[in-house]
Amino acid sequence: MIKQTKSTCCYCGVGCGVIIHSENDKIIDVKGDPQHPANFGRLCTKGSTLHLSAKLDNRVLYPELRTNRDLPRKRATWDESLDLAVEKFARTIETHGPDSVAFYLSGQLLTEDYYVFNKLAKGLIGTNNVDTNSRLCMSSAVAGYKVTLGADAPPACYEDIDHTECLLIAGSNTAFAHPIIYRRIEAAKEKNPNLKIVVVDPRQTDTAKAADLHLAILPGTDVALFNGMLHVMLWEGMLDHAYIEAYTNGFAELKETVREYTPKMVADICGIKEADIITAAKWFGKGPSLSMYCMGLNQSIHGTEKNAALINLHLATGQIGKPGAGPFSLTGQPNAMGGREVGGMATLLSGHRDLANAEHRAEVAKLWGVESVPEAPGKSAIEMFDAVKEGSIKAIWIACTNPAHSMPDLNSVLEALDTAEFVVVQDAFNNTETGQYADVLLPASTWGEKEGSVTNSERRITRVNPAVAIPAEARHDWEIVVDFAQRLERRLAKNSALFPYTTTEQIFNEHRETTRGRDLDITGLSYALLNEQGPQQWPFKEGDVTGKARLYADGVFQKPDGKAQFVNAVYKGTADKTDARYPLHLLTGRLRDQWHGMSRTGNVAQLFNHAEEPVIQMSADDMMRRSIKNGDIVRVSNKRGSLVLPAQLSDEVKPSQTFIPMHWGSQSMHGLGVNALMPPNYDKTSKQPELKHTAIKLEKL
Ligand code: SF4
Repeated sequence: MIKQTKSTCCYCGVGCGVIIHSENDKIIDVKGDPQHPANFGRLCTKGSTLHLSAKLDNRVLYPELRTNRDLPRKRATWDESLDLAVEKFARTIETHGPDSVAFYLSGQLLTEDYYVFNKLAKGLIGTNNVDTNSRLCMSSAVAGYKVTLGADAPPACYEDIDHTECLLIAGSNTAFAHPIIYRRIEAAKEKNPNLKIVVVDPRQTDTAKAADLHLAILPGTDVALFNGMLHVMLWEGMLDHAYIEAYTNGFAELKETVREYTPKMVADICGIKEADIITAAKWFGKGPSLSMYCMGLNQSIHGTEKNAALINLHLATGQIGKPGAGPFSLTGQPNAMGGREVGGMATLLSGHRDLANAEHRAEVAKLWGVESVPEAPGKSAIEMFDAVKEGSIKAIWIACTNPAHSMPDLNSVLEALDTAEFVVVQDAFNNTETGQYADVLLPASTWGEKEGSVTNSERRITRVNPAVAIPAEARHDWEIVVDFAQRLERRLAKNSALFPYTTTEQIFNEHRETTRGRDLDITGLSYALLNEQGPQQWPFKEGDVTGKARLYADGVFQKPDGKAQFVNAVYKGTADKTDARYPLHLLTGRLRDQWHGMSRTGNVAQLFNHAEEPVIQMSADDMMRRSIKNGDIVRVSNKRGSLVLPAQLSDEVKPSQTFIPMHWGSQSMHGLGVNALMPPNYDKTSKQPELKHTAIKLEKL
């Protein structure tokens, strides 16, 4: 008999609901959940082929370990593997202190997995060295929200797409990266042909091609554009001065700054027409205006300022907290939001608390029943692997992510993994570049097997349910952490029992209590309510009968005086600049049918129909100048590394710009993958690295 199980798609932050069809404990099909408010039954190519990715031949099925780096790993028992990990971590902590160990996690983990990892590091071990691949993805969006609105909370919701009159899409190829949102945008445009869609992107992506106005700005010039739009709206009398006066601080300083950003100056910086800047500003100023943005803003050394400069536009026009209006960051990974809710990053604490805040630290310590949580900030992703390389972090635990593919400046990361004294990798897949560095490899459950909850881009929490049993000796991520933590408590002779959990519901309920009174208060939610009434948006306080579709409708922000803060952002440019030696811009991004490092999508043959192999896309102008024809093999290089791959003529990139997708790694190309070339430079506030842009040279082979 075919069993149907409601769950979510495990790819992107749209968070589509799925119904998994299984028979005899095997996943045989997947359909969109018609009742899920993120997708109403629709799925993109990735989501609709999820069942084809549910194979065992690419899975880690048994624990493996090695006691000597010169020896291959061998199959081991869970007891042997976890006891070895406990002994190595305990000895390292005792000898070098808690900050000599670190955990590097993933936005793919469920909220409950994240919660126990965070508690293990900050509550039991006493280190804030917990960071995740969300640092590479959403941390500038987080910082942008916090510095302007006071909390890491996207104010808008998907329904706003249906109500907006101006949709500003910045740094996002939504058609490829968030396809189901894009379907909704297409439907909104069809219903309301007056809806103006403005796309800000150096590339002429599918999203840009369908826009009413494409602002093909030069890489990294977003802040100049947003300041220029504000300049025009100021000049045209399109600002909402009553809103600015009543609900914000800092406009006078910003006004002085944007006075300089004339359309002429901005057109020169951004490489676009003055008239287009004016048109975009007028459309935005008229409203209601919704902006959707993603990695083009976030993955930048000025990511926080890019986010803030865009949010400035909303605050200055009062385009926030009402239907069809607001800034709306599109989350990359399925549960980056849930991870942040439990404080699963080096700078955060549970319930959207800040590590730097002594009161917040005391609150979390009390909730956990521990003496204190450590004050010293943990290492963010780039800092963490740097610390591993220079030896201050000696043991690292990597779960559900593949930093040997996804981090920038990959050669440096590989050196770090080589240098580490002890590496634990906890993963479902056996085809990752990171796996080969594991001293202990722990088999984890994955999509279709896991249970817990996730939060999508619009703050909506959905239950994730298992359709089939976990294969062989794999275990749930949270179970692995709890088992390790309990053993470590005993080994360190800690007189505590911080990890009494036997179900994910117990973990969810404890997490729920940490949100009481906070901006994301979910004390009114339970597994039972989510099961019975379906996915819900936060906040959802005790006594509430529904969550909040949009935030800040009352003009009260999460700042001490309740007022939002304008940020005086100025244009600064990219980390790497083109010059005579490296004359071409290299941009990176996603393809429609692949996901991140392809550990899952790489196993589905039909997902290669859209793009079979990695290529570098080039303009006709650049190909002609170098006598390169379509399909010619070229070497792409800069000071950090080189790749060899075919060239492809593309009308999507401008002259002097090139594009390589992020998905292929060392296993499928000559070279480590495009991230090997990317700079390790990061935004000083968000610590998010600039994974979108570098400068390269190119030679025909
Ligand atoms: Fe999955 Fe994202 Fe596609 Fe929805 S849009 S089916 S969440 S990959």
